[in-house]
Amino acid sequence: MAKPAILTVDDDPAVSRAVARDLRKQYAEDYRIIRADSGQEALDALKELKLRGEQVAVLLADYRMPNMTGLQFLEAAMDLFPRARRVLLTAYADTDAAIQAINVVDLDHYLLKPWHPPEEKLYPVIDAMLEAWKAAPDRPVADVKVVGHRWSAPSFKVRDFLARNMVSYRWYTTDDDEGQRLLTAAGLTEADVPLVVTQEGKTLVAPGEAELAVQVGLTTTPASDFYDLVVVGGGPAGLGAAVYGASEGLRTVLLEERATGGQAGQSSRIENYLGFPDGVSGAQLTDRARRQAVKFGAELLTACKVTRLAVQGSARVLHFEDGTTIAAHSVILATGVAYRRLRAPGLEQFHGRGVYYGSASTEAPSCSDQDVYIVGGANSAGQAAMFFSRYARRVHLVVRAPNLDASMSRYLIEQIAAVPTIEVHPCTEIVGADGDEHLERLTLRPVDGGAERTVDSSWLFIFIGAEPRTDWLEGVVQRDARGFVLTGPDVAASGDHLALGRDPYHLESSVPGVFAAGDVRADSVKRVASAVGEGAMAVSLVHRYLVEGQ
Ligand SMILES: Cc1cc2nc3c(=O)[nH]c(=O)nc-3n(C[C@H](O)[C@H](O)[C@H](O)COP(=O)(O)OP(=O)(O)OC[C@H]3O[C@@H](n4cnc5c(N)ncnc54)[C@H](O)[C@@H]3O)c2cc1C
Repeated sequence: MAKPAILTVDDDPAVSRAVARDLRKQYAEDYRIIRADSGQEALDALKELKLRGEQVAVLLADYRMPNMTGLQFLEAAMDLFPRARRVLLTAYADTDAAIQAINVVDLDHYLLKPWHPPEEKLYPVIDAMLEAWKAAPDRPVADVKVVGHRWSAPSFKVRDFLARNMVSYRWYTTDDDEGQRLLTAAGLTEADVPLVVTQEGKTLVAPGEAELAVQVGLTTTPASDFYDLVVVGGGPAGLGAAVYGASEGLRTVLLEERATGGQAGQSSRIENYLGFPDGVSGAQLTDRARRQAVKFGAELLTACKVTRLAVQGSARVLHFEDGTTIAAHSVILATGVAYRRLRAPGLEQFHGRGVYYGSASTEAPSCSDQDVYIVGGANSAGQAAMFFSRYARRVHLVVRAPNLDASMSRYLIEQIAAVPTIEVHPCTEIVGADGDEHLERLTLRPVDGGAERTVDSSWLFIFIGAEPRTDWLEGVVQRDARGFVLTGPDVAASGDHLALGRDPYHLESSVPGVFAAGDVRADSVKRVASAVGEGAMAVSLVHRYLVEGQ
C-alpha cells in the first residue's frame, strides 16, 4: 500500500519547491510529498489518489493563487478527502481572511509565510495535523471499487461477475458519500453507473464482462493458438479435466464464459462431496481447484464464450464471440447446465432488481430482517434456504410438490425443519411479480387453482431446474432432444460413428476427439463428485485417443 500523501500547492514554483523540500526532509520516510503549482493541478492529483484508493493526510494550500484560490481548492478537496487536515499558507497581510476561512472551509490551521526555521514554525504544525489525522484517517482501499444503484441489473451483473471470479471489491451505492466522491473524482454523474475503479485507479463505465475481466487482471487470451486439450467450461467437470490434463503433461487450456466454479461455485454449502465431512462452500472448493489447475500448468481463461466448434482435419477448432479461434488435438465439453427461467407476469423485468437465478450471495447481507422467497424443491433451493436464513427475517420456500421428500436430500430436509424461520409453502407457485423501481410484491397461488394472495417481498431466488446451453454445437455434435450431448454407447447406438472404424470411447461424442463430461452429458448424474470424476475420466480417454484413436 502506498504511503499516505501530504500535498502542497503554491502558484509560485520557488515557494512550492521550498515547502516540498522542507516537508520531504522531515516526513519522507512515512509520507509521500506531492507538490502542485496550481489548484487545478492539485485537484487532479487528488482525484487520481482517490481513484487509486490511497490516503491523503494533510493539504497545504497557498491562499493567493490565480484561477483557484487556496480556499477554493481546500473546499473542493473536502469533497474528495474530507478527513485530510487542511492548512492555509498566508502572508501576514492576509491573516484576517485566513481567520474568516477557518469557519468557511473548516480550516484546521493557517500558517504564516515565511515558515523558517521549519523546526520551529512548520514541523510542529504538521506534526499536530498528522496526529489528528491518524486519530481519524480515511481508510486506504486497495480493492477494486464499484459504484452503482442499489436496484440496478447492470450494477448487480458487475458485482456478481467480480464475486464469482473471487475478485475482492468494495461496493458503494450512489447514495453513499464515498460513492459520490468516487464519481466526482472520475468526473462522472449518477447517470453513468455502474462505475468500476480498478486497483490502479482506472475507471470503467458500465463495462462489459470481457473488458472488466481484462482490467481486473483475469486472463482472457490464450498464450498459444494450439493445445493438446481444450476444456470448454470451468465447473467441477472442466476444472477436474484441467487438473488431470495438465498434471499428466497435456498442454491444457480451460475456457470459461463467466467464472470458474460453474453451478458448484454458487453453492453455499456442499455437504456430500467426498473428503469434506463438515461441508465446503462452492467458492472454496472452486478456488482450490482453480489453484490446483494453475499449479500444474493449465491455462485458465475467463470471459471466453465459445460459440462454435469446427473440425479441420485432425484439429478441433473453437470459435469465440469476438471472431478469434483456438485449436487443439482434443476437446472436453464441460459446459454444464444453466437455470431454467420461471415464467410469470412481471418477473422478467425485475431480473437483477429483486429476482435472481441462483443464490446471488452478493445480495445476502442486504436481505437482513426481510422476507425472502425461494422457489424450487431440490437441493440447490434447500441450500439457499439454509444460507439465507442466516440473514433474512423469514425464508419462504415455495414448492409445487406436496412436500420435499421426492426432490431433496434427507439431511437438508432435516436441517430446514430445524430452522424456525424457514417456512415451506407446499403445493404453491409464484404467478406474478410487481413493483416500481424493484421487486416489491409477489403473487402466490395454490397449484390446484385456489385463491391467489399477494405478499410483500423484495427478494426472490429461483432454483427450478436447468437446461444445457449447447445450441452452438448444432449440426456438429449429436445431442438428445433436450440438448444434452450424447456420448459413448448412445453415439454407437445411433450408428453415427461408423465412419470412424471403431466404437466411440465411453465419454466420446459423435465427433472423434471431442468428449463430454459432467452435467452437459446425456444421462449424467448431476453431482459435483460425478462431474469431477468424469472430467478425470475424459482425460484418460483423451490420452487413448491421442495414442491410438485418430
Ligand atoms: C446452488 C447449487 C447447489 C448445488 N449443490 C450440490 C451439492 O451439494 N452436491 C452436489 O453433488 N451437487 C450440487 N449441485 C450440482 C452441481 O453443482 C453440478 O452437478 C455440477 O456443478 C456440474 O458440474 P459441471 O462442470 O458439469 O457443470 P457446471 O457446474 O454447470 O459448469 C459449467 C460451466 O461451463 C461454462 N460454460 C457454459 N457454456 C459455455 C461456453 N459456450 N463457453 C465457455 N464456457 C461455458 C459455464 O459458465 C459454467 O461455468 C448444486 C448445484 C447448484 C446450482
